[in-house]
Amino acid sequence: MNGPFVDTVVLRDAARRGPWQLAFPAELEAEYQSSTSEARRQWVRLSVFVALSTVLGFAVIDHWVLARPPSPIADSIRFGLQLPVVLIALGLTTRRFFARFYLPAITLAAPLFGIGTVVMAASAPPDQTALITLRILLAAFYFYFMLGLGWRRALGVNAVMLAAYAGAALAGYIEPRAAAYSLFVLLCANLIGGAGAYALERANRAAFLEKRRLAESATRDGLTGLLNRAAVDERMDALYEQAVRERVPLGVVLVDIDHFKAFNDRYGHPAGDQCLRVVASTVRHAARRRPLDLVGRYGGEELVAVLYGATHEHAETVAREIVVAVARLQMPHAASPTCTHVTASVGAAVDMPADGVPLARLVERADGALYAAKSAGRNRHAVAASVTPLAAARARSAS
Ligand code: GH3
Ligand code: MG
Ligand code: MG
Repeated sequence: MNGPFVDTVVLRDAARRGPWQLAFPAELEAEYQSSTSEARRQWVRLSVFVALSTVLGFAVIDHWVLARPPSPIADSIRFGLQLPVVLIALGLTTRRFFARFYLPAITLAAPLFGIGTVVMAASAPPDQTALITLRILLAAFYFYFMLGLGWRRALGVNAVMLAAYAGAALAGYIEPRAAAYSLFVLLCANLIGGAGAYALERANRAAFLEKRRLAESATRDGLTGLLNRAAVDERMDALYEQAVRERVPLGVVLVDIDHFKAFNDRYGHPAGDQCLRVVASTVRHAARRRPLDLVGRYGGEELVAVLYGATHEHAETVAREIVVAVARLQMPHAASPTCTHVTASVGAAVDMPADGVPLARLVERADGALYAAKSAGRNRHAVAASVTPLAAARARSAS
């Protein structure tokens, strides 16, 4: 998704789907989920340990603190359902399983756990029903805030637990007045828990968008939306190092708009800005073919494309296509001495990066080619001759 437009896309999408649907459009949602996954995993893992201690803690309390020993039903739910559910959840919070299995499994397991607690309350002696019902309250808040379910899923899980409680009351397992009172308390708890979970999720998502926007604005050029100079330098250095390691050639393509000063003088600076935007978008489409390639604004009206693993022929094709694509825009340029519309000149160089040979040398050669294209009349491309014949370099690195 294109950085500068994210906010608009998200807002439009949110307006269409209503305030209760917090999820982003699919592509951004996937990015949000994957960028928060590890933090969520660690939080949930800790939460499951809390659940484990709680289940064991209640086993102790029920056996030794409550006057009567708990019913066999309570113990079989505790040790036959709830403890296994918690242990399975613990297994699913390991790095290996979390991303794929945790959420679907817990969406199924959490209501089962909740129903188990309801059955424990319903099967308790009448004087203990209210005490055990407190645990339903505990489970409700646990589902809202500890399991990383998201507010809607947590609401669903709690609705199942509440329905089970109402069902047990209707079936006569809980004294009607106590059941009505408890149901009201549980409804209030769900209102508070649901609202809190909604607000929390909303705040988390807003923070994610803000962080993403800041990261974008630190690396993007405000006018063209391309990578800015600092980001180009940083990523170009990284690509160069990678190319040295992997022994693949690197291509640098420099693009400069022809007679742009005259364009500004004739049509005004705002029109110049618009022209630069359109040319930038054209160059981006013409140049970026493979995942590692990058396109950025190198400065003023000069753009750069870095082609990872490019052959001389590939770089030449890209350079030629950029020239053709810009000319095809047919943007009038009455002040140009060389053409009636806006054109660009392109210089390219390809080389096999090697230890000790600086990236600057490759850029200098691309710049030399650009100068040659300008001198030869503009609206054309030139490619610098390779310093190291690539075939020879490849053969050398293979041996
Ligand atoms: P050449 O064909 O030799 O490249 O001529 P040129 O006029 O394009 O080159 P020169 O370097 O003399 O001028 C570049 C101009 O680009 C000067 C500057 O005002 C303009 N320019 C640089 N950045 C921007 C920008 O962000 N917006 C606008 N509107 N103009 C810009
Ligand atoms: Mg120029
Ligand atoms: Mg220039």
